[in-house]
Amino acid sequence: MSELNLILLGPPGAGKGTQATRLRKDFSLPYIATGDLLRDHRERDTELGQAASEYMNNGKLVPDDLVIKMILDRIEAEGGDGFLLDGFPRTVAQADALGAEMANLGRRLTAALLVQADDDEVVRRLSGRRQCRQGHVYHVDFDPPKHEGVCDQDGTKLFQRDDDRPEIVLRRLAEYHEQTEPLIDYYERRDLLRRFNGARAPTEVHDHIRATLATLRLEDQL
Ligand SMILES: [Zn+2]
Repeated sequence: MSELNLILLGPPGAGKGTQATRLRKDFSLPYIATGDLLRDHRERDTELGQAASEYMNNGKLVPDDLVIKMILDRIEAEGGDGFLLDGFPRTVAQADALGAEMANLGRRLTAALLVQADDDEVVRRLSGRRQCRQGHVYHVDFDPPKHEGVCDQDGTKLFQRDDDRPEIVLRRLAEYHEQTEPLIDYYERRDLLRRFNGARAPTEVHDHIRATLATLRLEDQL
């Protein structure tokens, strides 16, 4: 069986997380979310975690090569048939660095999966999201609770995450357009980009991704 080395791209709120959960199950791929990876290293107080903490405690960004080291360590530790990378690369420089390091390991990317959604859709989805402290998630228009502002499952009060406030959503989108969107061209030029319409129902998006990955695997075996 050929490897599936995948990265997930797309704006916040396009449904990447939902698709990642399903893909992990389908293909039993290790899912590497860089935010979780950083947290894990710091909690376990590894050498890499300590190095990252030094930057973060001084209010600095963790350098790319440190993050890439964490990613490669994890890929090696998982061994296996591939990985699903989420949250990295976010810039062209990061993509270059990751590609070079992977080549050193004799691996190459299978595809960059882009789950698209336009800005209006993203704002509508994220700014309508409400959740309780237990993590039950609702949407004021698409999936409202039975009683406004109260969780159906535990009766506690719903609130809006700071990340989902409209002004923050717009800032995250602007950052995405500026920094991450150039990656779309980058991977397209390398014939690695595969596009999916995140405005469609999650199940349809999922079917489309699965079919695409099945084809990629077949092509790889020919
Ligand atoms: Zn709840």
